[in-house]
Parts: sequence; structure tokens; C-alpha cells
Amino acid sequence: EGKAKIIYEGPEKGTAIQHFKDDATAFNNQKRSTVEGKGVLNNRISEHILSNLNQIGIKTHLIKRLNMREQLVRLVEILPVEFIVRNIATGSMTKRLGIPDGTILSKPLIEYSYKNDDLGDPLIAREHILEFKWVKDEKALNFINDSCLRINDFMQGMFRGVGIKLVDFKLEFGIANIEGKENILLADEISPDTCRLWDVASEKKLDKDRFRKDLGNIIQGYQEVARRLGIIHEEANISEVKFGKPKAVNIKNK
Ligand code: UDP
Repeated sequence: EGKAKIIYEGPEKGTAIQHFKDDATAFNNQKRSTVEGKGVLNNRISEHILSNLNQIGIKTHLIKRLNMREQLVRLVEILPVEFIVRNIATGSMTKRLGIPDGTILSKPLIEYSYKNDDLGDPLIAREHILEFKWVKDEKALNFINDSCLRINDFMQGMFRGVGIKLVDFKLEFGIANIEGKENILLADEISPDTCRLWDVASEKKLDKDRFRKDLGNIIQGYQEVARRLGIIHEEANISEVKFGKPKAVNIKNK
């Protein structure tokens, strides 16, 4: 069980079930809350993006969505590196470097951080990744870098077409053994939890920054993303749908 998801053993060898929770965390787990309906939306949004990426030849762990909160995925060994792609400077990068928030980068920038909660996911260089073999070799790292840029190109176009700027996002990759061959697959999720998405016209944030910065209307932001991508219908209003936990039924008197 992680911060926003639970991974269960899958029905067949080499598969897993990825369950999306409503839990939201930020600042390395220091801020925590529950956002009702978030898991359902992230499940749908991530399925949409990963299956579209699959159609342009990016290999992903996604096999299929099973239900409101779960996906059947290939079991992978996650590489201990977060790949952050940035188009506009904001968040930790502006704090670290003193760059004005919202600076448009002349070309996409990839940053790496070491996936380790105890250390606070520190920023690392390519050389660290290769030295400590967090990715097997230079060829594999170059392949992942190229994939990050392709994914960025595709996603930037997809979001721009529905009036959303793709500011930055995080990707995770994993290794799966398929028919005796090692494959590098895009894994984890791509959702408003892992991307920064700004409305083109108003610059309004439609992502997890609404939670990080206490901007309110978190679920409405995620819902707007799903609506614009055509995943949920115009008239749908997730905030009116109740996603309460199943209640125990007293069967004594039955
Ligand atoms: N991000 C993420 N998980 C992390 C760190 C970052 O999904 O553990 C995403 C984040 O949502 C944003 C991008 O990566 O879209 C860049 O995040 P940044 O480095 O600015 O970190 P933050 O400001 O979130 O600490």
C-alpha cells in the first residue's frame, strides 16, 4: 500500500491489480487528507492517457481497467527514479533556483529524483543513476529519456487541444519480464495527482496544487480535466455522487 494506491496480487502470474484510493498526501506525507471521488477520477484519467500513449507505441503496464477504482496491470519492478518533465518552471524548481514562477522553458527539461521517502526524494544527476545502477545502463536511460520527451509531446498536444497547459509531470518506469525478455514499461499513473495542469484562458490550476496550496474545489478541478478529455459527460457532477465506504449490515434480525 502506498500513499494514493494499493497494489494487489493479480489473477495471473506477472499481473497486479492497481487500486486508486481517495487519500491525498503532499510535502512528503506531512499533509494528508481524503478527497472523495479522487481515486475514481484518477483511475479513469490515467487509463485514458496510458491507453492513448499505448496507441502511439509507448509500452505501458496497463492491461485494462477493471472497475471504478481498479486496473489490471503488468507486474513490474519499479525503477527507483522519478522522471520529472517540465515545460514551465514552477514548484520545487522555482524554489530551488530562484527562477520566476511561470517562466516558459525554451525546451522540455527532464529532472531525476531518487525514490526514497526517508530522504525526501532527493534530486539526482544522470551520473548517480548510472553509478548506482538505478537504471541498468546508458542505453536504457537514453531510451527512457526519449520516451519522456515523446510522452510530453503527445500529452502537451492532447491537453492543449482542450484548453489546458501541461506545466510539468512525473513519470515512473518499471521492468517486466515478458517471454524471457526484459521490457521497460511506463508504469504507475498519469493524473492530476502527478501533473500540473493550468487552464489556458484563466491559468486556473486543475491539479493537486489545489490540495497542496489549500485552493479548495480539488475534486472540481480533477472533474474538469476528465470532462474536457471527454472521459465523463458534460452534465456529470462528481461532487453530487456519493462514494461512501460500504456499510456493515446488521444481519442478526434477518
Ligand atoms: N510530482 C509527483 N510526485 C512526486 C514529486 C513530483 O507526482 O513525488 C509531480 C508534481 O505533481 C509536479 C511535478 O512532478 O507535477 C514536479 O513537481 P515538483 O518537483 O515541482 O515538486 P513539488 O513542488 O510537487 O514538491
